[in-house]
Amino acid sequence: MTQVIGPGKTIGIFGSGQLGRMLALAAKRFAYRVLVFSPAANSPTGGVADIEICADYNDLEAVKNFAKQVDVITLEFENIPASAVEVAAKYAPVRPGLEPLYIAQNRLREKTFLSENGFPVAPFFALRLREDLTESLAQLGDSAILKTAGFGYDGKGQAKIANLAEGQEAWARLGFQEAILEGFVDFERELSVVAARGLDGSFAHYGVIENDHRKHILDLSLAPSQLPGHVVAEAVEICRGIVERLDFVGVLCVEFFLTKNQRLLVNEIAPRPHNSGHLTIEACLSSQFEQQLRAVCALPLGSSEFLRPAAMVNLLGDLWQAKEPDWAKACAMPGVNLHLYGKSEARPGRKMGHITAVAATPHEAKEKALTARRKIIET
Ligand code: AMP
Repeated sequence: MTQVIGPGKTIGIFGSGQLGRMLALAAKRFAYRVLVFSPAANSPTGGVADIEICADYNDLEAVKNFAKQVDVITLEFENIPASAVEVAAKYAPVRPGLEPLYIAQNRLREKTFLSENGFPVAPFFALRLREDLTESLAQLGDSAILKTAGFGYDGKGQAKIANLAEGQEAWARLGFQEAILEGFVDFERELSVVAARGLDGSFAHYGVIENDHRKHILDLSLAPSQLPGHVVAEAVEICRGIVERLDFVGVLCVEFFLTKNQRLLVNEIAPRPHNSGHLTIEACLSSQFEQQLRAVCALPLGSSEFLRPAAMVNLLGDLWQAKEPDWAKACAMPGVNLHLYGKSEARPGRKMGHITAVAATPHEAKEKALTARRKIIET
Protein backbone atom coordinates (compact mmCIF):
# COMPACT_ATOMS: atom_id res chain seq x y z
CA MET A 1 0.00 0.00 0.00
CA THR A 2 1.20 3.50 -0.76
CA GLN A 3 2.41 5.36 2.25
CA VAL A 4 0.76 8.70 2.94
CA ILE A 5 3.17 11.52 3.70
CA GLY A 6 0.98 13.29 6.22
CA PRO A 7 0.87 16.80 7.66
CA GLY A 8 3.88 17.53 9.86
CA LYS A 9 6.23 15.89 7.33
CA THR A 10 8.60 17.91 5.17
CA ILE A 11 8.00 18.81 1.52
CA GLY A 12 10.98 19.69 -0.66
CA ILE A 13 10.45 22.00 -3.63
CA PHE A 14 12.86 22.33 -6.55
CA GLY A 15 12.51 25.89 -7.85
CA SER A 16 11.64 28.98 -5.92
CA GLY A 17 9.36 31.30 -7.91
CA GLN A 18 5.71 32.17 -7.42
CA LEU A 19 4.46 28.66 -8.18
CA GLY A 20 6.59 27.30 -5.34
CA ARG A 21 5.40 30.14 -3.11
CA MET A 22 1.74 29.30 -3.66
CA LEU A 23 2.48 25.59 -3.18
CA ALA A 24 4.31 26.42 0.07
CA LEU A 25 1.31 28.47 1.24
CA ALA A 26 -0.99 25.49 0.57
CA ALA A 27 1.45 23.20 2.39
CA LYS A 28 1.63 25.52 5.41
CA ARG A 29 -2.17 25.42 5.67
CA PHE A 30 -1.83 21.66 6.11
CA ALA A 31 0.99 22.20 8.65
CA TYR A 32 3.73 20.68 6.50
CA ARG A 33 7.31 21.89 6.79
CA VAL A 34 8.69 23.29 3.55
CA LEU A 35 12.27 23.25 2.29
CA VAL A 36 12.98 25.00 -0.98
CA PHE A 37 15.99 24.43 -3.22
CA SER A 38 16.62 27.81 -4.79
CA PRO A 39 19.24 28.98 -7.25
CA ALA A 40 18.94 32.53 -5.80
CA ALA A 41 18.61 33.97 -2.31
CA ASN A 42 15.46 35.71 -1.00
CA SER A 43 13.25 33.98 -3.52
CA PRO A 44 9.43 34.20 -3.66
CA THR A 45 9.20 30.65 -2.27
CA GLY A 46 11.98 31.28 0.25
CA GLY A 47 9.81 34.03 1.76
CA VAL A 48 7.24 31.41 2.78
CA ALA A 49 9.31 28.22 3.23
CA ASP A 50 10.77 27.13 6.57
CA ILE A 51 14.21 26.76 5.02
CA GLU A 52 15.68 28.03 1.75
CA ILE A 53 18.74 26.15 0.49
CA CYS A 54 20.52 28.39 -2.00
CA ALA A 55 22.65 26.48 -4.48
CA ASP A 56 23.00 25.69 -8.14
CA TYR A 57 21.15 22.63 -9.49
CA ASN A 58 24.52 21.31 -10.62
CA ASP A 59 25.84 21.34 -7.05
CA LEU A 60 25.00 17.71 -6.42
CA GLU A 61 26.31 17.78 -2.82
CA ALA A 62 23.80 20.54 -2.07
CA VAL A 63 21.08 18.55 -3.82
CA LYS A 64 21.94 15.52 -1.67
CA ASN A 65 21.89 17.63 1.50
CA PHE A 66 18.48 19.01 0.52
CA ALA A 67 16.98 15.62 -0.37
CA LYS A 68 18.17 14.02 2.89
CA GLN A 69 16.11 16.51 4.89
CA VAL A 70 12.75 16.01 3.20
CA ASP A 71 10.08 13.30 2.94
CA VAL A 72 9.05 13.98 -0.65
CA ILE A 73 10.25 16.28 -3.41
CA THR A 74 8.20 18.08 -6.00
CA LEU A 75 8.95 20.99 -8.29
CA GLU A 76 7.66 24.24 -9.64
CA PHE A 77 10.01 24.47 -12.59
CA GLU A 78 10.60 21.79 -15.22
CA ASN A 79 14.14 22.63 -16.23
CA ILE A 80 15.81 20.80 -13.36
CA PRO A 81 18.87 18.91 -14.68
CA ALA A 82 18.38 15.15 -14.78
CA SER A 83 21.51 14.65 -12.66
CA ALA A 84 19.95 16.65 -9.80
CA VAL A 85 16.71 14.66 -9.99
CA GLU A 86 18.64 11.37 -10.04
CA VAL A 87 20.71 12.27 -6.98
CA ALA A 88 17.65 13.57 -5.10
CA ALA A 89 15.64 10.43 -5.91
CA LYS A 90 18.16 8.30 -3.95
CA TYR A 91 17.00 9.98 -0.74
CA ALA A 92 13.35 10.92 -1.26
CA PRO A 93 10.67 10.23 -3.86
CA VAL A 94 10.64 12.89 -6.61
CA ARG A 95 7.12 13.46 -7.96
CA PRO A 96 6.66 13.93 -10.88
CA GLY A 97 9.67 11.87 -11.93
CA LEU A 98 12.29 12.09 -14.63
CA GLU A 99 10.31 11.08 -17.75
CA PRO A 100 7.79 13.94 -17.78
CA LEU A 101 10.56 16.42 -17.01
CA TYR A 102 12.80 15.05 -19.74
CA ILE A 103 9.96 15.39 -22.24
CA ALA A 104 8.78 18.84 -21.16
CA GLN A 105 12.32 20.28 -21.10
CA ASN A 106 12.67 20.18 -24.84
CA ARG A 107 10.06 21.23 -27.39
CA LEU A 108 11.21 18.70 -29.97
CA ARG A 109 10.97 15.82 -27.53
CA GLU A 110 7.61 17.13 -26.32
CA LYS A 111 6.08 17.44 -29.79
CA THR A 112 7.53 14.07 -30.84
CA PHE A 113 6.11 12.40 -27.71
CA LEU A 114 2.71 13.97 -28.36
CA SER A 115 2.48 13.10 -32.03
CA GLU A 116 3.86 9.56 -31.58
CA ASN A 117 1.19 8.93 -28.97
CA GLY A 118 -1.62 10.20 -31.17
CA PHE A 119 -2.20 13.57 -29.48
CA PRO A 120 -3.01 16.38 -31.95
CA VAL A 121 -0.26 18.97 -32.59
CA ALA A 122 0.51 21.53 -35.30
CA PRO A 123 2.90 20.25 -38.01
CA PHE A 124 6.52 20.59 -36.89
CA PHE A 125 10.07 19.87 -38.05
CA ALA A 126 13.39 19.53 -36.27
CA LEU A 127 16.04 22.08 -37.23
CA ARG A 128 19.57 20.79 -36.75
CA LEU A 129 21.39 21.29 -40.05
CA ARG A 130 21.17 24.50 -42.13
CA GLU A 131 19.33 22.68 -44.95
CA ASP A 132 16.59 21.56 -42.53
CA LEU A 133 15.24 25.11 -42.58
CA THR A 134 14.85 25.26 -46.36
CA GLU A 135 13.20 21.84 -46.50
CA SER A 136 10.80 22.37 -43.61
CA LEU A 137 9.76 25.86 -44.74
CA ALA A 138 8.96 24.44 -48.16
CA GLN A 139 6.59 21.98 -46.46
CA LEU A 140 4.99 24.45 -44.05
CA GLY A 141 4.43 27.28 -46.49
CA ASP A 142 5.13 30.87 -45.67
CA SER A 143 3.95 31.16 -42.09
CA ALA A 144 5.82 29.42 -39.35
CA ILE A 145 7.20 29.84 -35.85
CA LEU A 146 10.79 29.06 -35.09
CA LYS A 147 11.49 28.11 -31.47
CA THR A 148 14.56 26.91 -29.61
CA ALA A 149 14.17 23.26 -28.67
CA GLY A 150 15.37 23.76 -25.10
CA PHE A 151 14.72 26.24 -22.31
CA GLY A 152 11.88 28.25 -23.79
CA TYR A 153 8.96 29.82 -22.00
CA ASP A 154 6.64 32.82 -22.36
CA GLY A 155 7.63 33.22 -26.00
CA LYS A 156 11.34 33.47 -25.18
CA GLY A 157 13.55 32.07 -27.92
CA GLN A 158 10.87 32.15 -30.62
CA ALA A 159 10.10 34.17 -33.73
CA LYS A 160 7.36 34.24 -36.34
CA ILE A 161 8.81 33.95 -39.82
CA ALA A 162 7.34 34.46 -43.28
CA ASN A 163 10.20 33.39 -45.57
CA LEU A 164 13.62 31.75 -45.72
CA ALA A 165 15.57 34.99 -45.15
CA GLU A 166 13.60 35.74 -41.97
CA GLY A 167 14.05 32.16 -40.86
CA GLN A 168 17.81 32.31 -41.33
CA GLU A 169 17.99 35.59 -39.46
CA ALA A 170 15.85 34.31 -36.58
CA TRP A 171 17.83 31.09 -36.29
CA ALA A 172 21.13 32.99 -36.43
CA ARG A 173 19.91 35.15 -33.51
CA LEU A 174 19.40 31.90 -31.59
CA GLY A 175 22.96 30.87 -32.43
CA PHE A 176 21.78 28.04 -34.75
CA GLN A 177 21.11 25.91 -31.68
CA GLU A 178 18.75 22.95 -32.06
CA ALA A 179 15.32 24.36 -32.88
CA ILE A 180 11.84 23.45 -33.97
CA LEU A 181 9.88 24.93 -36.83
CA GLU A 182 6.13 24.81 -36.28
CA GLY A 183 3.28 25.67 -38.59
CA PHE A 184 1.70 28.97 -37.53
CA VAL A 185 -1.72 28.26 -36.05
CA ASP A 186 -4.30 30.92 -36.86
CA PHE A 187 -6.22 30.04 -33.72
CA GLU A 188 -9.61 31.24 -32.52
CA ARG A 189 -8.48 31.11 -28.92
CA GLU A 190 -6.06 29.55 -26.47
CA LEU A 191 -7.19 27.14 -23.77
CA SER A 192 -5.68 25.09 -21.01
CA VAL A 193 -6.62 22.10 -18.91
CA VAL A 194 -5.04 21.84 -15.47
CA ALA A 195 -5.33 18.41 -13.90
CA ALA A 196 -3.99 16.40 -11.00
CA ARG A 197 -3.16 12.71 -10.92
CA GLY A 198 -2.55 10.79 -7.74
CA LEU A 199 -0.16 7.92 -7.08
CA ASP A 200 -3.14 5.58 -7.24
CA GLY A 201 -4.12 6.85 -10.71
CA SER A 202 -6.93 9.07 -9.42
CA PHE A 203 -7.64 12.06 -11.66
CA ALA A 204 -9.14 15.49 -11.02
CA HIS A 205 -9.42 18.36 -13.48
CA TYR A 206 -10.69 21.94 -13.66
CA GLY A 207 -12.31 21.67 -17.08
CA VAL A 208 -11.24 24.19 -19.69
CA ILE A 209 -9.73 27.57 -18.83
CA GLU A 210 -9.73 30.25 -21.56
CA ASN A 211 -6.54 32.26 -21.92
CA ASP A 212 -5.49 35.50 -23.59
CA HIS A 213 -1.82 36.23 -24.18
CA ARG A 214 -0.13 39.56 -24.72
CA LYS A 215 3.36 39.62 -26.23
CA HIS A 216 3.46 35.81 -25.79
CA ILE A 217 2.89 36.12 -22.02
CA LEU A 218 -0.34 35.00 -20.38
CA ASP A 219 -2.43 38.10 -19.64
CA LEU A 220 -5.88 36.86 -18.64
CA SER A 221 -7.50 33.53 -17.77
CA LEU A 222 -11.14 32.83 -17.16
CA ALA A 223 -13.17 29.80 -16.17
CA PRO A 224 -15.34 27.84 -16.40
CA SER A 225 -15.18 28.02 -20.17
CA GLN A 226 -18.45 28.63 -22.00
CA LEU A 227 -17.29 26.53 -24.98
CA PRO A 228 -19.51 23.66 -26.21
CA GLY A 229 -19.44 20.62 -23.94
CA HIS A 230 -17.89 18.36 -26.58
CA VAL A 231 -14.84 20.67 -26.93
CA VAL A 232 -14.37 20.72 -23.15
CA ALA A 233 -14.78 16.93 -22.95
CA GLU A 234 -12.25 16.38 -25.76
CA ALA A 235 -9.68 18.70 -24.16
CA VAL A 236 -10.04 16.95 -20.81
CA GLU A 237 -9.71 13.52 -22.46
CA ILE A 238 -6.49 14.60 -24.21
CA CYS A 239 -5.12 15.80 -20.88
CA ARG A 240 -6.18 12.57 -19.19
CA GLY A 241 -4.51 10.57 -21.97
CA ILE A 242 -1.25 12.49 -21.50
CA VAL A 243 -1.07 12.02 -17.72
CA GLU A 244 -1.95 8.33 -18.08
CA ARG A 245 0.67 7.77 -20.75
CA LEU A 246 3.29 9.48 -18.54
CA ASP A 247 2.09 7.68 -15.40
CA PHE A 248 2.19 11.18 -14.01
CA VAL A 249 1.98 12.10 -10.33
CA GLY A 250 1.30 15.73 -9.46
CA VAL A 251 -0.32 18.60 -11.34
CA LEU A 252 0.07 19.04 -15.08
CA CYS A 253 -1.24 21.64 -17.50
CA VAL A 254 -1.91 21.10 -21.18
CA GLU A 255 -2.02 24.27 -23.27
CA PHE A 256 -4.15 24.12 -26.41
CA PHE A 257 -4.97 26.11 -29.51
CA LEU A 258 -8.59 25.95 -30.64
CA THR A 259 -8.48 26.48 -34.39
CA LYS A 260 -11.11 28.43 -36.28
CA ASN A 261 -12.67 25.14 -37.40
CA GLN A 262 -12.90 23.98 -33.78
CA ARG A 263 -9.93 21.59 -33.80
CA LEU A 264 -7.89 21.23 -30.65
CA LEU A 265 -4.09 21.21 -31.00
CA VAL A 266 -1.74 20.77 -28.06
CA ASN A 267 0.81 23.59 -27.87
CA GLU A 268 2.66 22.67 -24.71
CA ILE A 269 2.62 20.61 -21.54
CA ALA A 270 3.80 21.93 -18.18
CA PRO A 271 4.48 19.20 -15.59
CA ARG A 272 3.54 21.49 -12.69
CA PRO A 273 0.87 23.99 -11.63
CA HIS A 274 0.31 26.66 -14.25
CA ASN A 275 -0.31 30.40 -14.37
CA SER A 276 -3.74 29.77 -15.92
CA GLY A 277 -4.69 27.70 -12.86
CA HIS A 278 -4.11 30.46 -10.30
CA LEU A 279 -7.80 31.31 -10.33
CA THR A 280 -8.54 27.91 -8.78
CA ILE A 281 -7.37 29.37 -5.44
CA GLU A 282 -10.55 31.47 -5.20
CA ALA A 283 -12.86 29.61 -7.58
CA CYS A 284 -12.53 26.01 -6.38
CA LEU A 285 -12.63 24.11 -3.14
CA SER A 286 -9.14 22.67 -3.70
CA SER A 287 -6.71 24.82 -5.68
CA GLN A 288 -4.14 23.48 -8.14
CA PHE A 289 -1.49 23.92 -5.44
CA GLU A 290 -3.44 21.95 -2.86
CA GLN A 291 -3.94 19.22 -5.48
CA GLN A 292 -0.19 19.11 -6.16
CA LEU A 293 0.45 18.75 -2.45
CA ARG A 294 -2.18 16.03 -2.08
CA ALA A 295 -0.96 14.14 -5.16
CA VAL A 296 2.72 14.06 -4.21
CA CYS A 297 1.93 13.18 -0.58
CA ALA A 298 -0.36 10.31 -1.62
CA LEU A 299 -3.35 11.99 0.03
CA PRO A 300 -6.73 11.66 -1.73
CA LEU A 301 -7.19 14.40 -4.33
CA GLY A 302 -9.55 17.23 -3.39
CA SER A 303 -12.61 18.52 -5.17
CA SER A 304 -11.81 20.57 -8.26
CA GLU A 305 -15.41 21.65 -8.67
CA PHE A 306 -15.96 25.36 -9.37
CA LEU A 307 -17.82 27.16 -6.61
CA ARG A 308 -18.05 30.31 -8.74
CA PRO A 309 -16.76 31.73 -12.03
CA ALA A 310 -13.45 33.55 -11.86
CA ALA A 311 -10.96 35.53 -13.94
CA MET A 312 -7.29 36.19 -13.33
CA VAL A 313 -5.09 38.94 -14.72
CA ASN A 314 -1.32 38.96 -14.37
CA LEU A 315 0.49 41.92 -12.86
CA LEU A 316 3.71 42.37 -14.82
CA GLY A 317 6.57 44.62 -13.77
CA ASP A 318 5.49 47.13 -16.44
CA LEU A 319 2.74 48.29 -14.05
CA TRP A 320 5.40 49.53 -11.63
CA GLN A 321 7.16 51.77 -14.12
CA ALA A 322 5.54 55.08 -13.08
CA LYS A 323 5.19 54.24 -9.38
CA GLU A 324 4.14 51.44 -7.04
CA PRO A 325 0.53 50.52 -7.94
CA ASP A 326 -2.17 51.63 -5.51
CA TRP A 327 -3.13 48.30 -3.94
CA ALA A 328 -5.90 49.86 -1.84
CA LYS A 329 -7.93 50.41 -5.02
CA ALA A 330 -7.99 46.66 -5.75
CA CYS A 331 -8.59 45.79 -2.12
CA ALA A 332 -11.63 48.11 -2.10
CA MET A 333 -13.41 46.03 -4.76
CA PRO A 334 -15.66 43.21 -3.51
CA GLY A 335 -14.83 39.86 -5.06
CA VAL A 336 -11.29 40.93 -6.00
CA ASN A 337 -8.24 39.23 -4.47
CA LEU A 338 -4.67 40.38 -4.71
CA HIS A 339 -1.63 38.09 -4.87
CA LEU A 340 1.89 39.51 -4.77
CA TYR A 341 4.95 37.32 -5.12
CA GLY A 342 7.41 39.29 -3.01
CA LYS A 343 9.83 40.05 -5.86
CA SER A 344 11.86 43.15 -5.11
CA GLU A 345 12.74 44.24 -8.64
CA ALA A 346 9.82 45.07 -10.97
CA ARG A 347 11.28 44.56 -14.44
CA PRO A 348 9.05 44.89 -17.55
CA GLY A 349 7.60 41.51 -18.47
CA ARG A 350 8.36 40.03 -15.03
CA LYS A 351 5.44 38.34 -13.30
CA MET A 352 5.11 40.23 -10.01
CA GLY A 353 1.65 39.13 -8.91
CA HIS A 354 -1.89 38.59 -10.10
CA ILE A 355 -5.45 39.63 -9.38
CA THR A 356 -8.34 37.19 -9.30
CA ALA A 357 -11.94 38.33 -9.43
CA VAL A 358 -14.98 36.15 -8.79
CA ALA A 359 -18.47 37.01 -9.99
CA ALA A 360 -21.78 35.52 -11.10
CA THR A 361 -20.49 34.88 -14.66
CA PRO A 362 -17.00 34.48 -16.18
CA HIS A 363 -17.65 37.61 -18.26
CA GLU A 364 -18.44 39.70 -15.17
CA ALA A 365 -15.38 38.29 -13.43
CA LYS A 366 -13.24 39.28 -16.42
CA GLU A 367 -14.57 42.85 -16.42
CA LYS A 368 -13.97 43.10 -12.68
CA ALA A 369 -10.40 41.81 -12.88
CA LEU A 370 -9.56 44.16 -15.75
CA THR A 371 -11.14 47.12 -13.91
CA ALA A 372 -9.13 46.32 -10.79
CA ARG A 373 -5.90 46.23 -12.78
CA ARG A 374 -6.74 49.53 -14.48
CA LYS A 375 -7.60 51.19 -11.18
CA ILE A 376 -4.36 50.37 -9.40
CA ILE A 377 -2.37 52.42 -11.89
CA GLU A 378 -4.83 55.31 -12.33
CA THR A 379 -3.44 58.65 -11.29
P1 AMP B 1 5.02 28.94 -26.17
O1 AMP B 1 6.22 29.54 -25.53
O2 AMP B 1 5.31 27.87 -27.15
O3 AMP B 1 3.97 28.55 -25.18
O4 AMP B 1 4.33 30.14 -26.98
C1 AMP B 1 3.87 31.29 -26.35
C2 AMP B 1 2.71 31.87 -27.14
O5 AMP B 1 3.11 32.10 -28.51
C3 AMP B 1 1.51 30.94 -27.27
O6 AMP B 1 0.69 30.99 -26.12
C4 AMP B 1 0.83 31.50 -28.50
O7 AMP B 1 0.14 32.69 -28.21
C5 AMP B 1 2.02 31.83 -29.40
N1 AMP B 1 2.36 30.67 -30.26
C6 AMP B 1 3.23 29.68 -29.96
N2 AMP B 1 3.29 28.74 -30.94
C7 AMP B 1 2.42 29.13 -31.91
C8 AMP B 1 2.01 28.59 -33.17
N3 AMP B 1 2.53 27.45 -33.66
N4 AMP B 1 1.08 29.29 -33.88
C9 AMP B 1 0.56 30.46 -33.42
N5 AMP B 1 0.90 31.02 -32.24
C10 AMP B 1 1.82 30.39 -31.47
